[in-house]
Amino acid sequence: MRFVSTRGGVPPASLREALFRGLAPDGGLYLPERLERFPEGFLAGLRGAPWEQTASAVARHLVGPDIGDALEQIVADALDFPLPLVAVSDGAYVLELFHGPTLAFKDVGARFMARLMGHLHDPAEGTLTVLVATSGDTGSAVAHAFLGMPGVRTVVLFPEGRVSPVQEQQLTMLGGNVRAVAVDGAFDDCQRLAKEAFADRDLRERDLLTSANSINVGRLLPQIFYYVHAWAQLAPEGLVADRPAVFSVPSGNFGNLTAGLLAKAMGLPAARFLAATNANDVVPRYLETGRFEPRSSRSTLSSAMDVGDPSNFRRILYLYGDDRERIRADVAASAHTDVATRRAIADVARRHGYLMDPHTAVGWLALEEAADAHHHAPGVVLATAHPAKFPDVVEEATGRPVAVPDRLARALEGEPRVTRISPRLEALREILG
Ligand SMILES: *Cc1c(COP(=O)(O)O)cnc(C)c1O
Repeated sequence: MRFVSTRGGVPPASLREALFRGLAPDGGLYLPERLERFPEGFLAGLRGAPWEQTASAVARHLVGPDIGDALEQIVADALDFPLPLVAVSDGAYVLELFHGPTLAFKDVGARFMARLMGHLHDPAEGTLTVLVATSGDTGSAVAHAFLGMPGVRTVVLFPEGRVSPVQEQQLTMLGGNVRAVAVDGAFDDCQRLAKEAFADRDLRERDLLTSANSINVGRLLPQIFYYVHAWAQLAPEGLVADRPAVFSVPSGNFGNLTAGLLAKAMGLPAARFLAATNANDVVPRYLETGRFEPRSSRSTLSSAMDVGDPSNFRRILYLYGDDRERIRADVAASAHTDVATRRAIADVARRHGYLMDPHTAVGWLALEEAADAHHHAPGVVLATAHPAKFPDVVEEATGRPVAVPDRLARALEGEPRVTRISPRLEALREILG
């Protein structure tokens, strides 16, 4: 598979090039040059199939020829946790993407990307530096995915005091080949710093610098797998034969939604995608007004979605030829307040006995709001984080304590190690150098 830049200013790249460059040389984001539709019978053959089988089949369809025989093992190692589809209420399902090591859906993308890089990086070329800016979950997922991988070091930039305490612990306690860096600023500052570092010739030449943000195609591709998996789980119930599902996607940087739209372009039946945001509503506003106006992010309860300039949205614009009406045919967007988020957590816990984290709750709200328009279609909310990652919010909303899974408890033992810097490239240069 070859990859083109959304800015169209450079020739198509191979998977390897796209993976290690992160950003295309013209500053654009990579997208598959062509989306091969799933062959006849491909989806039908996956009805009711276990996750590993679906992930493996879709991976082969996408990048089989690029990777060859190693692909099977890469998928098996990277995606070795379940992604259950849970029926929460009549016609409303939650696809739990949070059973990986850091309890967030970003494990899917990060672990697949890390293993792909591990497979394609030649250690003789030197140590690979993976630089990642995070608003919370990306950093720990990526750091975890590369932890202990020979020939690789990871530098994680996060906004000081703006990630949840659990997220901060997950980031700062890994040690080993992972360096946690607290930036005196917001997520947007961290993202800008990472961009500046990649644009800096000196840094690029000295370090083999690569990005692991959601702009990396290595993270985007495996997210396609679980949309197909959701379909495969619904199919045996006869639920999707003539009523494709509505997917509600809690969105921040819009990588997750982009993957869903790619799946649809490849032939996955989907009635509609709901782009659910918190108060950071640049995309809902764009779909309403036609004006895409990035701005600084606002802090909310669903902090991993506090993104004021969602970079992946440029991929969506590219996919749809900048045609807002075409996007609106596939995507309905809505923004939800913290007050509503708390209410949804409490409501769903009381009425259905199901605990949601604040990000998933935003997705639930979008599905509720769209229920009238889609009352015959099954609804699938992508559950992006485990409720135990946000115990304060969930406990306050429901009045009940949240049980902490063992692997999270284990991850929170030990001494945190963190370096603090100002949001300037010079400060970052010292760490990288
Ligand atoms: C990153 C993240 C999101 C947003 O996903 P995008 O792909 O950036 O839109 C939602 N929920 C959680 C828990 C996340 O970590």
